Amino acid sequence: MRLHWKLMLTYACVIVMVMVFTHLYLARAMHEFLVGQLEEMLAREVRLTGAYLTQSLSGEGASDRLDGFADLVGQRLEVRATIIDGSGRVLGDSDVSLEDLPGVENHADRLEVREAWQGRVGRSMRRSDTVQKEMLYVAGVVPGLGDGRTVVRLAMPLEDVGEVRSRVNQVIWIATVLGLVFALVLSYGSARFVSRPIEGMTRVARRMTAGDFSETVLVPEFSSLELRDLAGALNEMRRQIQERVEQITIEKSRLEAVLASITEGILVTSRDGRVQMANRAFDKLFGATLPTQGRMPVELIRNGEVQETIDQTLQSGEAATQRMTMSGVPERHFDVHVAPILQEHACIGAVTVFYDITELYRLERVRKDFVANVSHELRTPMTAIKGCADTLAGGALADPSAAERFVQTILTHTDRLQLLLDDLLDLSRLESGKLDLVIEACRIRDVVGLAVSSVKQTADERKIALDVRVPENLHAHCDAKLIVQAVINLLDNAVKYTPSGGHVVVLTRQVEEGEVGGEGRSTSALAPLVVPEDRDGTGALRNKNQSRFVLEVVDTGIGISSDALPRVFERFYRVDKGRSRSMGGTGLGLSIVRHIVEAHGERVYVKSELGKGSTFGFTLPVA
Ligand code: ADP
Repeated sequence: MRLHWKLMLTYACVIVMVMVFTHLYLARAMHEFLVGQLEEMLAREVRLTGAYLTQSLSGEGASDRLDGFADLVGQRLEVRATIIDGSGRVLGDSDVSLEDLPGVENHADRLEVREAWQGRVGRSMRRSDTVQKEMLYVAGVVPGLGDGRTVVRLAMPLEDVGEVRSRVNQVIWIATVLGLVFALVLSYGSARFVSRPIEGMTRVARRMTAGDFSETVLVPEFSSLELRDLAGALNEMRRQIQERVEQITIEKSRLEAVLASITEGILVTSRDGRVQMANRAFDKLFGATLPTQGRMPVELIRNGEVQETIDQTLQSGEAATQRMTMSGVPERHFDVHVAPILQEHACIGAVTVFYDITELYRLERVRKDFVANVSHELRTPMTAIKGCADTLAGGALADPSAAERFVQTILTHTDRLQLLLDDLLDLSRLESGKLDLVIEACRIRDVVGLAVSSVKQTADERKIALDVRVPENLHAHCDAKLIVQAVINLLDNAVKYTPSGGHVVVLTRQVEEGEVGGEGRSTSALAPLVVPEDRDGTGALRNKNQSRFVLEVVDTGIGISSDALPRVFERFYRVDKGRSRSMGGTGLGLSIVRHIVEAHGERVYVKSELGKGSTFGFTLPVA
């Protein structure tokens, strides 16, 4: 129910109650007052009648005239007058005729008569059997008449009092109804006066809950102080909430922008361990397609240990770190940091950050392998050299033929060491990025010719046919010296890993649309290329629209298995260690090729089928 109706109803109840009580009280008081007045009047008239009776009816035969006297008094005073003797016998009565008097009942037991005999003014109110009406009786002894116990009694019907009372009642009721209507109108007005500002405040509060802070509470100047205070407080509250909401909104969008731009996966969990929020990077890392909110982290990351760590942090409020490996191809590695969200020393949630360290992990492994490989590669020739030197020092010098053999071995291993160190130096120069490329237009036929001449002898020895299919006038923008080295390395491998009677072709052809530079493909495996920036070796931006060709070395050799294929460009990686070493390979050749090509801002690739042969190639810009 509306406030003003409630207030009005309360007022109405109070008013009705007050009116009813007033009415009841007034009616009673009025009755008592009227009866009292009547009694007083009758008492005075009783005394007057007594005095008159004493004076005018003393002497002989007075008793015979008493009824006439009663009639006279009754008529004049408009009352019922009764005269009773000392024994209670009625001597005269204005309402009873003389003949009927002997039949009237003895009045000695009437209350007012008995009181009169006791010397007081007797009063009584009761229903008269004689006249069948509610009557007020007042009686008094007439002094000096008869035996001094004669009583004059005057009676009046109380009907008159009732009439007066009902008239007064009527007035009171009319006043009550009028007062009620007036009071209700007034109370409605005043209730509205109070309730209207409250309604205004309620409306503003409701709008605030819905996020609308545009309306202010307006309270009339003449409103009560309390209402004005309340309105002031509400307006102040509205202003502060609006400010805070704006602040929170700004902070939220800032946070969202930050979270979206972070490349690490971020997962925020609530106190009960359920996901509250995850950034885009997280969705991408874990392939979360469904809404992440409200789910358990383990459902998304499918790793029980990380879930346990999050649970522990939520319980203990302490940060924790752990490594996580996600199986798949390729396997991925994460550093997982779980930090508690603390509020007044209580943990209300946790933030989990997934750092993708797959590349770092790989580099770390490559570095470790590199050190181990270099040590290993150096150890073998060093051990051989030391062994020979020891033997020579131990007396073998005296035997010239043995000495020559040992010295020859020392020389062979020193050459191998030299080769290894040269390759390592080349590689480190290429990897350091300090290499200054001398880019110029080179005739590819010449470049390939130089490379072919350096492997020609070995190829002939191994009866491998070398074929060059390069157009006469094809020119490329490149560092000729480095490209010659790259082609030598590829040709060297092709000759090494192709059995006698095989065939090696160096060819160039146009790049087919989308052929090189894609991710992996089913029929051919591309080397995992990492070109940090789209720049050529000179630091200039590599022109994407530049027309290119590929230079390929195709052999009919042993081929490479698909497992090994993605790794052949790694340093020291060899599919068959023994075979490579026996062929004088260092395991660095392809790594050097890859670096040379990448230094030019180009791409290198390999396609191979085990037992059928391999094709190594790289792109070059047409000059
Ligand atoms: P290596 O000095 O051992 O030849 P590379 O880096 O040049 O080192 O080559 C790495 C590995 O790749 C070789 O050990 C070999 O197993 C494989 N490989 C390279 N080229 C060929 C090829 N043309 N045919 C078959 N396998 C090859």
